[in-house]
Amino acid sequence: MTETTATHCPYCALQCAMALTQTEAATPGRGARVALAGRAFPTNRGGLCKKGWTAAELINSPDRILEPMLRQPDGSFAPAAWDMALNLIAERLAGGRAEHGADSVGVFGGGGLTNEKAYQLGKFARLALGTSRIDYNGRFCMSSAAAAGNRAFGLDRGLPFPVEDLDAAATILILGSNPAQTMPPFIGHLDGARAAGGLIVVDPRRTATARLTENGAGSHVQPTPGSDLVLLLGLINIVIAEKLVDQDYIDSRTIGFDELRRSVGQWWPERVQAQTGVPTQQLRDLARRLASGRGTYILTGRGVEQHADGTDTATAAINLSLILGLVGTDHSGYGTLTGQGNGQGGREHGQKCDQLPGYRKITDPAARAHVAGVWEVHPDSIPGAGLPAVELLASMGESGGIRTLLVHGANVVVSAPNADRVRAGLAALDFLVVCDFFFSETAALADVVLPVTQWAEEDGTMTSLEGRVIRRRTAVAAPAGVRSELWIFQELARRLDAPSRYSTDPAEVFDELARASAGGPADYSGLSYGLLDEGQAAYWPYPAGSTGTPRLFRDRFQHADGRARMFPVRARVADAPAQQRGILTLITGRLLEHYQSGAQTRRVPELALARPEARLQLHPATAAQLGVADGGWVDVTNSRGVVRCRAEVTLSIRHDTVFLPFHFPGEQSANRLTDDVTDPVSGMPEFKRTTVRVRALAGEERGADA
Ligand code: SF4
Repeated sequence: MTETTATHCPYCALQCAMALTQTEAATPGRGARVALAGRAFPTNRGGLCKKGWTAAELINSPDRILEPMLRQPDGSFAPAAWDMALNLIAERLAGGRAEHGADSVGVFGGGGLTNEKAYQLGKFARLALGTSRIDYNGRFCMSSAAAAGNRAFGLDRGLPFPVEDLDAAATILILGSNPAQTMPPFIGHLDGARAAGGLIVVDPRRTATARLTENGAGSHVQPTPGSDLVLLLGLINIVIAEKLVDQDYIDSRTIGFDELRRSVGQWWPERVQAQTGVPTQQLRDLARRLASGRGTYILTGRGVEQHADGTDTATAAINLSLILGLVGTDHSGYGTLTGQGNGQGGREHGQKCDQLPGYRKITDPAARAHVAGVWEVHPDSIPGAGLPAVELLASMGESGGIRTLLVHGANVVVSAPNADRVRAGLAALDFLVVCDFFFSETAALADVVLPVTQWAEEDGTMTSLEGRVIRRRTAVAAPAGVRSELWIFQELARRLDAPSRYSTDPAEVFDELARASAGGPADYSGLSYGLLDEGQAAYWPYPAGSTGTPRLFRDRFQHADGRARMFPVRARVADAPAQQRGILTLITGRLLEHYQSGAQTRRVPELALARPEARLQLHPATAAQLGVADGGWVDVTNSRGVVRCRAEVTLSIRHDTVFLPFHFPGEQSANRLTDDVTDPVSGMPEFKRTTVRVRALAGEERGADA
């Protein structure tokens, strides 16, 4: 095959366009070899980052699992025929359900699954397994921004406008996101704001994105970790006090301004400076710049969202956007930068414990009736709301909790908070099944591992960070022993005598998904593979008979009265743990070379060579105080665990803060330290504010390689 296939990157939500050409067909022992090139598309304009450029190496990886693997009595894995593996899984699922109830079976999905797989996984869990216990790793990424968007606008779409709209902005405020490393082609869309001196980056670290503000391109605001909510309340206070609000917009398009004004009265600039460390003049300059009326966007990311108060922080960013009259207007707006490849679509089609397809609430009788009609079952046969991801994982091994777990497209041993507790919970299960391409750290603990197709070997759709539904296309045949998840769901459903149908044809599943979504907030009913293949830019909501919605909220918000809600939020006053002797605040995040848990990118030689290990970033003054040398070994500890890694001494971080990437397993796993406390509204864990102690290791403590 020499023809070239147009598809998109398997990794992040920018979904850069690429073209794949097979250079060598799959053999029984290896996947195909593929040549890869960037392709013109509005978000990436032909560019790719190094993750994207090297993505095809995984298709042919020698690490790939090419047949089902069964755990043996001695703890090793041995290959098995598909029939044998599926029969065993069906038997254990049915047995576990009969003995301990349907809710003893859990399903954990992923934000990288296609819309079709995410939809079918939700249906399979609820109908074939009868369990309410389904959730996904998007709970770790997007749930706080989603909750904030839903309560303010009545709808959650990461960017309610195309990415290209940013090109014309004079001011862009980025809070807690580092796209220069996580999605490099995106930063081309910041050039207009940089040329106008209006790129403002809020981050405790001087990241690659923060450095884009140098040479007059903007400013870097470097607050104390976890003080973002106070910072935003302070900005709202200044905008109101200096009468910089857009009163016409507030009067005609919103509800709640008076209460909001009262709620921020205590956050005068000097008090905000004391809490955040950001000088009052910088606060005032920032507020005035945002209100300059020259085309302003406010964008949030995981840095401000992955907190126990993440929903309130995202809400405060929205409140600031609303009083400035930015949302749903020309050349201005608010959005959140979704991380995972299908983080947006993954939360629209039923993987979340509280949702049905079309972003419908599972507790809404009308929503249940509609979806039950499409599934041809009685509404009462659809279970109610389950547990969000962190609670679901915490229930493993607990009385009345999960005893059998199916994991699809997630590596929870590395990506979930309080990782040692998660590992112990997985070990306490009666039965663990993992679908993956590789022996991820989670797959290595499974009873059965099922090998599944990679992105270049399958058709489907993804929904990008801007709410655009795009086509993933099959470029190469999968190796003989590998199957798609859609096939696995069908085979298991048949063995379990499940009601409804489970097609293996992605186009058919998409059509069913579109019908199930009809009339819901994320309405895909006007979409089909045929329409997408014509090259139409398809932004949801896309009801039948429409042409989609590139820009939301132009005339009205999604609440019944058409108005946005300003929901007043309150900040707790920080106890400043970093000021206590010897205690530092740990931030976790991503590196340019790796994606999420690193299960894929750590297997790409070029990426692994460039970033083979986690390094703890800390300030030179802190390093000197602790006796830590650049490249020296350290222990990072708290009550939950210990991480042992080398140090990277850098001026790019505050003296009271340290940073660890979360892509690495074992003794370098940052999530051994993070807490599984969650946001009460969204269920999102606190990843960005963990107290730790750092200790330099002597050579003999580290061993021979120290
Ligand atoms: Fe892939 Fe994201 Fe890199 Fe684009 S920016 S190539 S979508 S990882």
